[in-house]
Amino acid sequence: MALLEIKDIHKSFGNLHVLKGIDLTVNKGDVIAILGPSGSGKTTLLRCINYLETADVGFMTFKNQSYDLSNTSKKEIADLRKHTGFVFQNYNLFANKTALQNVTLGLTVARNVSKEDADLIGMQMLEKVGMQDRANHYPSQLSGGQQQRVAIARALATSPDIIYFDEPTSALDPELIQEVLSVMKTLANEGMTMVVVTHEMAFAKNVSSHVILMEEGKIVEEGNSKDFFENPKQERTKEFLRKEE
Ligand code: ADP
Repeated sequence: MALLEIKDIHKSFGNLHVLKGIDLTVNKGDVIAILGPSGSGKTTLLRCINYLETADVGFMTFKNQSYDLSNTSKKEIADLRKHTGFVFQNYNLFANKTALQNVTLGLTVARNVSKEDADLIGMQMLEKVGMQDRANHYPSQLSGGQQQRVAIARALATSPDIIYFDEPTSALDPELIQEVLSVMKTLANEGMTMVVVTHEMAFAKNVSSHVILMEEGKIVEEGNSKDFFENPKQERTKEFLRKEE
């Protein structure tokens, strides 16, 4: 049984049909890289499956529970987000909270974990991303790469079954990209299930287990990472890979 199964997502913004019937299956431990040109709908897809956007049509089964992606209720959103983590392109940390407070907020506020226990878990998560020394720093005192690592620690704190990453390194200066990718690689090696929208070809090639290429709201090609890069079937995929080289 798949961890996550998505069927037939459609989403339009006004007249713009951004997602045109996307199906996707994610098994436990998969690391799926979603590639594609800018504007192809990658971010919208990720946002729809965590209810950050409401799809026009779409169904999802996650941990044996069914969700209608076009019809959200507060309860469905809360149920789903108990089990998912999301890492944003721009980190989305609270500016007036320290690194540790950013990590523990989801535990103390949403889950009634005591402050002591939350701090303990928070420090463990910061250690996991190499940020324990900066626990009491505010986001403005951290580099972009450090902020993103705190955001990953925050996503990890609630022990999610899956983490969605929306272009996690695209806001970073080139010299800060590797420290974030390296944390993500460690998580992948530990068996964390991850869906990653990215332009980092080396990450897709070397870390992900599966790759999906999207264009104009549809999946052009999907396959295991090795086949996708070494033996692409679609002409469009070959062209995309040539351009990215
Ligand atoms: P990608 O992640 O592949 O670059 P996006 O999912 O961000 O693509 O965007 C797909 C298309 O949808 C783009 O043309 C974008 O401008 C449009 N779009 C995304 N979000 C919105 C929104 N909230 N309102 C209107 N148009 C949007």
